[in-house]
Formats: sequence, structure tokens, C-alpha cells
Amino acid sequence: MKGVIDWSKYMSTQKGKNEWVSKSLGSKKIFAMGLMPVRGPKGFRKLDYEFAEKDLNPNEIMKKLNESHFNVFGLVIKDTDGACLWNTKHGWNPTGRDILGEFCDAGKDYNIKIMASFTSMNDAYQGFKHPERVSIHGKDGKKGGQRYKRGDISTHEEGEMRINLPNNITFEQYKEKIPFLTNKIDKNVGKSRGARGEGFIPLTSFMCPNSKHVDYLLDLAKEVVNSYKIMGLFADYIRYDGGYVDLCACKRCTKIFHEQYGNKTKLLTSKEWYDFKSNTIAEYAQKLHATIKKTNEDCVSGWFCLPGPKNMFTRKRLGQDWSKLSSILDVASPMEYPYLMGTRDDGWIWGKVGDFFYWYFIRNMKKRIHEFKSPILAVTNSVECNTEEMIKQIKNFDFGLGIAVFKYFGTSESQWQALKEYAEDVLGLDNLNYT
Ligand SMILES: [Zn+2]
Repeated sequence: MKGVIDWSKYMSTQKGKNEWVSKSLGSKKIFAMGLMPVRGPKGFRKLDYEFAEKDLNPNEIMKKLNESHFNVFGLVIKDTDGACLWNTKHGWNPTGRDILGEFCDAGKDYNIKIMASFTSMNDAYQGFKHPERVSIHGKDGKKGGQRYKRGDISTHEEGEMRINLPNNITFEQYKEKIPFLTNKIDKNVGKSRGARGEGFIPLTSFMCPNSKHVDYLLDLAKEVVNSYKIMGLFADYIRYDGGYVDLCACKRCTKIFHEQYGNKTKLLTSKEWYDFKSNTIAEYAQKLHATIKKTNEDCVSGWFCLPGPKNMFTRKRLGQDWSKLSSILDVASPMEYPYLMGTRDDGWIWGKVGDFFYWYFIRNMKKRIHEFKSPILAVTNSVECNTEEMIKQIKNFDFGLGIAVFKYFGTSESQWQALKEYAEDVLGLDNLNYT
């Protein structure tokens, strides 16, 4: 294809093979569309349980995806709020619906496989319910006008999701349903990525990856893989909070760290500390992978990562070691959203911002793709960018396995048309399999 990057020359040998793709899909490439049920019918700036409860229509959605030739549907079954959108014994499901079950049924009818995404360490509800499991700040600090002290739990105002009160419901009533809601309101909508939300501001928490939260996550994963026929389970937020450099300094983490590296080794800033962080995340990955495979050998395990500088960002802040994690889990999924940083549709200057990030994301992958030891399925965005920007991303972030698009609600009619044409012309997909 003209003007498309040949990624194979930047890649290193991969451990897994992609045979499971053709085996389960009857096609060489994955063409996936994602959906976040709790974020309402437009973009992803709202937390909207009313919509998930009453308006979400799995059959209609799968029909539309089939018409556009998607062969995989990526469902966010647990978002950063912590709601578990399936029939769960262990988790919190404020929608009262078995949304995963409904999509699995509709997926069968339309011959679309389900991959579920599962937010791990970021969990607002668990942060409210189990403050003792939330990660702890190791230093005093200030971010976005919020101050915190050394020893405080890392529960802060959520950056991107906002909440509107449903009709005829008071703030107090809604807070009973959403206990992590605050009465602060974000009134202004801006054009930069962090400023597009509007409504009541909820709190959010990053849980300590050495706490019982990990056991909770493993119970959930086991429940999901055991009860639903899904093609894959992908861990999102399999990392520390990238907004802070001083997490997690709780007693559990401090104790384990000193046991492993000696009492004199420095917390928070030493080389050993960063090793400890990435080992902690890799241990969770290992446990998650084992849980998935023990329950269903054929279920693919995956994880999401963010592009960025390897040392300053991926290692020091997030505690992710791409080589380690991709040696453990089956598929790596980098989130390539350059045009979320700015789109031409918001004016010339925002187009330039998006173009800059696109250039940077491509360069970052050229430099770092060799770190992945497994096949790679990138996610890129359709929401909050235009059709031309979307197609450019879809073409050049296909690292061999296909592409996943984020997200269903917010994709424009012209984008749907372009996606369909891309599936037919480039991927050679059609919806003839549908009976
Ligand atoms: Zn901790």
C-alpha cells in the first residue's frame, strides 16, 4: 500500500504467532471497534449509568458493526469508575444489566468475536470502598490545584469523566448510587484534551498493586473468563498513575521493597525502586495471565500501553516494562491517539498539534517497537478527530495484526463510510459470513 510504513523492519522476533487470529476469525487481520458502555452516547467525557441501563442496544450496535465489516468488538467491561458490566458476584454493577452477556449473544448472531477490556489499577469505586488499598503518596505535592501530603491516599479528582444528574434526581440521591461523586462542577469546555469535559466531577483512585486489590481483580477475571465465551481479555491501566512520581509508598510496598533491596536502598528515586515498580506490575500480569489460561486456554491475554519516552515515562512513572509484559501476555496493545491531542476540525493550530503528536507517536514506535516480544494490536481513535486523520492512523498503526478503533459512539457518518471502505479495499473483509 502506498505511503504506508513497513513496520516489519523495526520489529524483533515475536514469541507468539498470530495463528489464533485466522483460526478464530477466518481472516488474517483483526478489525475491531471499541465501546465504553458507561461513557454515554457521544464521546467519552461522561460517566452515564442511565444510558448504560436504559438506552444501550447491543443488537443494534452489532448489526451496525457487521454492516461495516468489523470482525471483533472490544467491550470495556470495567472502566476507570470500577463498575463491572456483567453478571457478577464479586464486583459492583450499578447498571443491573448483564451487558457483556447481551453482547456475547448478539456477537454470535452477527459473527463478531468479543474482546473484553478490563481496567486494573484505576478504580474509583474500590478506592471509595477500600481506602486502605489505595496507593499512598511518598511526598507532599500539588497537581491541578489539588494539594496532597506525604502519607495521603492517591484519591483525586477525575481528569476526564464528568457527570450530569439525571432528571428528577438530587445530588444527594445520586451520590448514594455513585459514592465517589463530588459536588464540584466543571463548567467550561476547552479544546485541549484535558479540558473537554463538563459536569459534576467524580473522584478517582489508583489502587496499590501490592494490596488485596490484585486478588479482587483476579477473582473478577476468573469469573468473566469462566462465564462468557470471549476471544480475549485485555488489561487496561496495568500500571501506576502516570500523573505522579511518588506512588506507592504504602507500608506494604515499603516493606517488600526493603526486604528485596535492603534497608539502605532509597525509596522513590533509586534505580532499584523503578525495578521494583515494574516487577510489581509484571507480577500482576503473570497472575492475570495464569488465571485466564487456567480458566480457558484459548482466551487471549492482552494489555494496553501508552506511547512515550521509555525511561522518564514508561519506566519511572508507569512502572511498565514493555519487554517483560509482552513476554508474559499474548498481545500488546499500544494506544495510539495522536489526534486526540488536537484535530484540524478545531482550527488550523489544533490540526498542527495533532500532526505533531502523530509524527511523535510514529517516531516513538520506530524507536521502541523492538521492545515488544509478542504480536501488537494498536488502538487508535475515530472519536474527536476527522475522517482523514482517522484513516491515516488506521493505516500506519497497523503493526501486522490489524487495527482496533476507539470508539463506537462519537464516530461520524463519514467515518463509518470510510471504515467500511477500508475494510473492503485494504483488509479484504466483507460481511458474507453473517447468516
Ligand atoms: Zn503500596
